[in-house]
Amino acid sequence: KRNVGIMTSGGDAPGMNAAVRAVVRAAIFRGCKAFAIKEGYTGLVEGGEDYIKEMKWQDVRGLLSEGGTNIGTARCMEFKERWGRLLGCKHLIEAGIDALIVCGGDGSLTGADLFRAEWPSLIQELLETNQITQEQYDRHKHLYICGMVGSIDNDMATTDSTIGGYSSLERICKAIDYIDATASSHSRAFVVEVMGRHCGWLALMAGIATSADYIFIPEKPSSSKVWQDQMCNIVGQHRAKGKRKTIVIVAEGAITSDLQPISCKDVKDVLVNRLGLDTRITTLGHVQRGGTAVAFDRILATLQGVEAVKAVLELTPDTPSPLIAIDENKICRKPLVEAVEKTKNVAAAISERDFEKAMSLRDSE
Ligand code: ATP
Repeated sequence: KRNVGIMTSGGDAPGMNAAVRAVVRAAIFRGCKAFAIKEGYTGLVEGGEDYIKEMKWQDVRGLLSEGGTNIGTARCMEFKERWGRLLGCKHLIEAGIDALIVCGGDGSLTGADLFRAEWPSLIQELLETNQITQEQYDRHKHLYICGMVGSIDNDMATTDSTIGGYSSLERICKAIDYIDATASSHSRAFVVEVMGRHCGWLALMAGIATSADYIFIPEKPSSSKVWQDQMCNIVGQHRAKGKRKTIVIVAEGAITSDLQPISCKDVKDVLVNRLGLDTRITTLGHVQRGGTAVAFDRILATLQGVEAVKAVLELTPDTPSPLIAIDENKICRKPLVEAVEKTKNVAAAISERDFEKAMSLRDSE
């Protein structure tokens, strides 16, 4: 029997609560103790009962339908330093935890992987400096880690969906539906900014689901002349056919082929100056993170939470840490390191404007 800790880390995503509930209950169901580590890696660095709390079955009652993450999440700079991870190691051992499930984005999972790789040297140092006993050392020689992907951007390689992606998409579509009504009434154009610095999944899917007139995503840059002509052409045609509203979706990370960011203001100016449209900008911002998780994310988080507990109980010291994924509708395990590396390579290729490489990396998933 292992004592299983669960934490949520990085940006919050709808469905993280469902993941915590599933892990806690699956662990208890399998005869293990379950612990919540609060405020992401800050909880590990701080330690103690305020931050690491044993969870009973009823502690997660009602959590499935709640948005956000009730155990808190944070960005923790201290955990990026070895001394922070040393404290994390000590506090996990003090709490008796030997398996850790981290639900977060690629940054959080990178931290988790590093923590596991460093564990032998951290625990050795704690023993040598008499911060833990020989008995604690023998029991905690290995840390078992498993990753779950909580991220609204749906930007993790090797999994089809991340926990929170479809909830965020649903929120964007709802917001655009609301905007549609006022746009049609006044015959206006709206430029809607959505999240996605390196990944245009939200903008692309929202574009399809709301039948937007035009979208901008980081993966498809074009020269200013091309996008301006193309957008005006399409919007002009739609207007000529009697359409009274115009919706253009811009992902945060949209750029031109000569590396310039495309802002909502740039798009608005073109719609105003070339087509004479009364145009407004709506930045959806944190609304995209809020609210309850859609059914898909609740189910995904629940099935993946159960699988994550199964995985940490089956891990041996030699097995690589798994990431719980969904691949062609099946919940499965993928090597965590590879998934994180691939995700970072795609993001790096997009930052370096090497779109062919980014696309071929995505296609090879
Ligand atoms: P999101 O997709 O919402 O940005 P994320 O998990 O990628 O989520 P980050 O801010 O990158 O968010 O990472 C969350 C936390 O994970 C960091 O604040 C830090 O505590 C830890 N972390 C990230 N990268 C590393 C690293 N290289 N080494 C150790 N810890 C890390």
